Amino acid sequence: MSDELPYLENDDGEYSVPCQLKIAEDCVQKGKFCGDKEEARDWVEDECWISSGEGHFCVQCNDQVLRNIANLATKKMI
Ligand SMILES: [Zn+2]
Repeated sequence: MSDELPYLENDDGEYSVPCQLKIAEDCVQKGKFCGDKEEARDWVEDECWISSGEGHFCVQCNDQVLRNIANLATKKMI
């Protein structure tokens, strides 16, 4: 894994993985702040966030993406 992934850093020098998409109304926006990047990434992986290769996005946004795709597919059928 590269360190090119985006991370948020708070005033305490802790890291959190931001949600890349932030399209869901109930998007959690970012993961828990942890002592290091590794831990922050483990946290989102434990929460089943989806890795896009360039970052991560939360389950709520993944659901939203799937709904959007389903909507598009429905529209095409009409
Ligand atoms: Zn999200």
